[in-house]
Amino acid sequence: MKKQEVFQSYKENIMPTYSKAPLIFVKGKGSRLWDIQNREYLDFFPGWGVGNLGHCHPKVVSAVREQISKLIFIPNNYYHIQQAKLAEEIVLRSYPAKVFFCNSGAEANEAAIKFSRKFGKGRCEIITFENSFHGRTMATVSATGQKKYQEGFEPLVPGFKSVKFNDIDAVRNAVNEKTVAVMLELIQGEGGINVATKDFVLGLRMLCDEKNLLLIIDEVQTGIGRTGKLFAYQHYGMAPDILTLAKALGGGLPIGVMVVKKEIADILQPGMHASTFGGGPVVCRAALGVLEAIEKEKLLLNAQEKGAYLFEKLNLLKDKYPVIKEVRGLGLMIGVELNISGKIIVEKCLEKGLLINCTHDTVLRLMPALNITGREINAALQILDEVLKEYSG
Ligand SMILES: *Cc1c(COP(=O)(O)O)cnc(C)c1O
Repeated sequence: MKKQEVFQSYKENIMPTYSKAPLIFVKGKGSRLWDIQNREYLDFFPGWGVGNLGHCHPKVVSAVREQISKLIFIPNNYYHIQQAKLAEEIVLRSYPAKVFFCNSGAEANEAAIKFSRKFGKGRCEIITFENSFHGRTMATVSATGQKKYQEGFEPLVPGFKSVKFNDIDAVRNAVNEKTVAVMLELIQGEGGINVATKDFVLGLRMLCDEKNLLLIIDEVQTGIGRTGKLFAYQHYGMAPDILTLAKALGGGLPIGVMVVKKEIADILQPGMHASTFGGGPVVCRAALGVLEAIEKEKLLLNAQEKGAYLFEKLNLLKDKYPVIKEVRGLGLMIGVELNISGKIIVEKCLEKGLLINCTHDTVLRLMPALNITGREINAALQILDEVLKEYSG
């Protein structure tokens, strides 16, 4: 297919639910991508948070290859080895728990919402936060604390109340006899890279224990090493009751997981919840490859070191260009808040071969692969510097 034919097919045959840059990619390796004209790009936002190992990591490629020729799919009314292994690895690395497998972040959160209602036995309200993002299904978009994702889809699913982020009193005031859970991202990704404070999170943990509420941590974006720990909650000295994972876990293949602490996990009995594709052999094998690569290649350490380096250099750019208001984040999940709209900066970077993202209108979002090199970071900084210079006049 030629470039124009691809665009034409999208235009005629695919619903226009995404705004798109006019790029057609055909190949990826690590933090590099190549388009249909063989132009090379440096990817500092691989897969919208999916590409924590970069593109086509050899461990993932060989894991998938091996599994796909043996057994592609087996439904959940039978057993298979890959799911057993992956569950064991996830529980080993998190906390005493049992897991439920599905295919996406929204589905993992949807499962957490359904689980909470079953747990609540009549208590059904979940407190969420302003500027949060939990997915696009009816329940998860209702849980999301941003009107722009909800408009036109009313009536929303009842039972969600969103309150101010990082404000423990706001949560305390919102709790009533119907409340069953509190659900949050430790770093709000789609909400502008807002980091939860330690006091707030520890306060939430105490409040949840005191009122018998489930603390649901949505790590669909922050999980799998993104912040320099395998899970972001590990920075906070506490554990959630329910953890949700997706994006980076499958190394590019679709997977979602709900991790529920062991004491309560058996509340969902046979027939109560399900997902046909959930936890299939190929995606589980891919996820095992991802976890193995993170460990063998010491990628958590690399994320910490490279994150600190990038953070420091971005702060130097901030001193140079007043158009930068603030640099914030954790590990390799970094937001650069601007005084101007970030859209034009993203476009200009793209013209120079650097892929980044803008979230919440004014926040540039950098989430390079965990195996990013110092040289690649310097190349990206060089481009950012040139572009920001142009817009700091
Ligand atoms: C992306 C995201 C989701 C939704 O995940 P999908 O796989 O797109 O359904 C949910 N929560 C957070 C924090 C996310 O970043």
